[in-house]
Amino acid sequence: MKMSVVAVDMGGTQTRVAHLAGGRLHRRKAFPTRDVDTLVAAIGAVAPRGPYAVGIAFAGALDMRRGRILNSPNLREWQDLDLPQELGSRLGRPVYLANDASCAALGELTRGFRARDFAYVTWSTGIGGGFVSGGRVLWGNTGMAAEVGHIVLRPDGPLCDCGKHGCLEAIAAGAGIRRLTRERMGSALSAEETVARARAGEKVPADIVNTACRAFAQGLSIVSELLEPEVLLLGGGITLSWDYLGPKVERALRAFSRNAPPVRLTELGDDVGLYGAAALPEHWPEEWPPPTRSSSGAPGS
Ligand SMILES: [Zn+2]
Repeated sequence: MKMSVVAVDMGGTQTRVAHLAGGRLHRRKAFPTRDVDTLVAAIGAVAPRGPYAVGIAFAGALDMRRGRILNSPNLREWQDLDLPQELGSRLGRPVYLANDASCAALGELTRGFRARDFAYVTWSTGIGGGFVSGGRVLWGNTGMAAEVGHIVLRPDGPLCDCGKHGCLEAIAAGAGIRRLTRERMGSALSAEETVARARAGEKVPADIVNTACRAFAQGLSIVSELLEPEVLLLGGGITLSWDYLGPKVERALRAFSRNAPPVRLTELGDDVGLYGAAALPEHWPEEWPPPTRSSSGAPGS
């Protein structure tokens, strides 16, 4: 019998929770990301009466094996927290924690594209990735695999939130575009505004967008040379402008790759992370212990 799961998708600004039952997401709740108390209350509000597990897709660097959040530029107050232990002891349920982009790949594997070999890349405020090879998610040694956004493309390039210089994310993601517009135009624009001005024919925004598209394509070409995926699946807010950006990215991708795979946008939309989080308990690497130690004997279990 499939385990009942409460899925959590924790982003820098918003957290979403839902209960997965019968293959569908029920009792969804969305609220501003705040603290552990708020999260415990939200999980309690959507949880079923019987036993359940919790799967969390988290927007930030973490050690999946140890269940520890390492750092997250947008979620600093969660740093160094053993979230599975903390939540697990309060809820009396097993809690599984993984990076949000790898969870999105798992969501695609179980609910969306369902192929044996593909890469999922999200292009938004940051850039994240999740790889599926041979029908399994590649988690890496501690769950930090597929960090596409932190591939260094220009060693002398702009400073990234991670502390390195010239990461793909610092050049092409929303935060990087905001910084570039501030430097070159005197006012910081969102990626959406920058694209709108580029569309309207303004030269500097068009330059910035072209640079971002080429850098993004460079990142995709590295992924494609390493993995030979059947398809590159994309998600994230910036891909909402794919009608304008897609041809630029695809042209550069073909120039940078010997065998560029087709590029597609995710069809699961915002739910891709929730579906992945819901599948985490079942797809947890067999050789790893569940990261929470409170599934038995804890108060309330
Ligand atoms: Zn970086």
